[in-house]
Amino acid sequence: MGISERGGELGASAGPGSIEVVTGSMFSGKTEEVLRRLRRARIARQRVQVFKPKMDMRYGRDKVRSHAGAEFHATAVEDCAEILDRVNGDTTVVAIDEAQFFELELTEICDRLAQRGVRVIVAGLDQDFRGEPFGPMPLLLAQAEHVHKLHAICMVCGQAASRTQRMIDGRPALYAEPIVLVGGSESYEARCRAHHDVPHQTEIQAEN
Ligand SMILES: [Zn+2]
Repeated sequence: MGISERGGELGASAGPGSIEVVTGSMFSGKTEEVLRRLRRARIARQRVQVFKPKMDMRYGRDKVRSHAGAEFHATAVEDCAEILDRVNGDTTVVAIDEAQFFELELTEICDRLAQRGVRVIVAGLDQDFRGEPFGPMPLLLAQAEHVHKLHAICMVCGQAASRTQRMIDGRPALYAEPIVLVGGSESYEARCRAHHDVPHQTEIQAEN
């Protein structure tokens, strides 16, 4: 394996930094892929720091964990400016998980880190449940040197899934459905383009 492998295995001390984006729908293995890169960076004696937004409380405050169970210590931050404050001078690899929840300024933060020679690895959902670009992700995809788009498996047909289907009480969530539900049970599935269903209120009324 050479140092020219995707993203490079060397960090700040070896030359210019870069931005890598790992993206896709829910259940596509983004976090597992980031953890794989971080394990390799650590073997290469790189100094790694991981950040995630404070609002992502799924697995507790200080861990990034894949559905497969692997984990890495992560610093939960209030906003993306805090990332810049908390990156240590000798850090060569910075990973940012759940990047879709950060402000658009995350692109600027990543750019500054890369300019400083840091290898920046960003993971996040490219689309929200409506199938629309999510937060700073479209900008990051444009800015990155390397993009890896992963796919899950469609729960309906078994083809590659690029989208996240939001379900509320067992039916597809409406386009205008609030992001935070009061009552009702909500779940998510991976779906392909053909089976991704986001009804508008008016369509539902028309059917009734
Ligand atoms: Zn499908």
